[in-house]
Amino acid sequence: MALAPGSTIGILGGGQLGRMMALAAARIGYECHIFDPHERPCAAEVSAHFTRAKFDDEQALRRFGAGCDVVTYEFENLPVEPLRVLGDRLKPGLKSLAVAQDRGDEKSFLEDAGAKVTPWRAVASLEDAQAAVAELGLPVVLKTRRYGYDGKGQAWIRDAGDAQEAWDAIGREPAVAEAGVNFDAEFSVVIARTADGTSRAFPLTRNHHEGGILRTSTVPAGPAIDAMADRAIAAARAIADSLGHVGVLTVEYFATADGPLVNEIAPRVHNSGHWTIEGAHTSQFEQHLRAILGLALGDASLVAGSAVMENLIGSEIDRWADILAEPGADLHLYNKGEARPGRKMGHVTRLS
Ligand code: AMP
Repeated sequence: MALAPGSTIGILGGGQLGRMMALAAARIGYECHIFDPHERPCAAEVSAHFTRAKFDDEQALRRFGAGCDVVTYEFENLPVEPLRVLGDRLKPGLKSLAVAQDRGDEKSFLEDAGAKVTPWRAVASLEDAQAAVAELGLPVVLKTRRYGYDGKGQAWIRDAGDAQEAWDAIGREPAVAEAGVNFDAEFSVVIARTADGTSRAFPLTRNHHEGGILRTSTVPAGPAIDAMADRAIAAARAIADSLGHVGVLTVEYFATADGPLVNEIAPRVHNSGHWTIEGAHTSQFEQHLRAILGLALGDASLVAGSAVMENLIGSEIDRWADILAEPGADLHLYNKGEARPGRKMGHVTRLS
């Protein structure tokens, strides 16, 4: 059943994704309730309600859930067990969250769903890392199974003698070892799926990363990537279906000579979909809300010839006044306070 305007949407996590989701909700007449352990999360200042509590505080979660018509998340590193108190109100469900939290479970799941991933091994010791290098060949990247993001918790092994250093660098945590992919480009598919199994994808987005952090996203992605659209969207749809996912799901790909390889999934709206705010008829945030509210999905096509999104990271936010003065530049600032190096502070989208 569809939830009518005026309903309350709970959002676990109060970062910029929650902030942009709350702004999208306000536009179509819904109000948001942010749940986050921080004192002043940037999503709370644009939302009607805020609960400050830890993500594993079941009592607080129960109270929060009782006051919301539906609950979603903007962040996947949430403890799964305590969220059971939210029951069916949580969309996407716990399976999407659990699978995306652990790189090993994620890779097994992706393979079972029929998606192609780079050859990989589970690693629990230095000996496992060395064995993975022997089996996969060089280079290999070690990634912690849990709590990695934006290139954190990763170390490359380019020479067999580097295994010890890489294992130490990731804190000797349970990990996966992945064969290094010789890719031509990276891209993502942002797809929304409703409870009745209808899904709709945004145009493929080419992503450029530096140091593991997304710098720019460009749409259209270009002919070489768009030639993979059918395969990439079919795989994303199969992944969403086997998760029983309700909401937006993001699938990040490597474009290789052999076709698309899945790098990872995020069970949520994604940085590579920010261009949709101005660049698509329906933004990824509104599309996510439509899916979890039981509404019809919107038109996901481009409104212009092209869109380029540039992240403003750390002190790059100091350029805000120049960007504001630039014709055709759409500036978004997240009001996150201190501009620490590597921190996503805002973004700008340019359509043409
Ligand atoms: P991730 O946190 O897994 O998204 O990794 C961050 C970035 O590191 C990716 O966007 C790629 O640019 C690079 N990367 C990750 N895994 C691999 C791999 N197996 N081969 C080559 N590059 C990779």
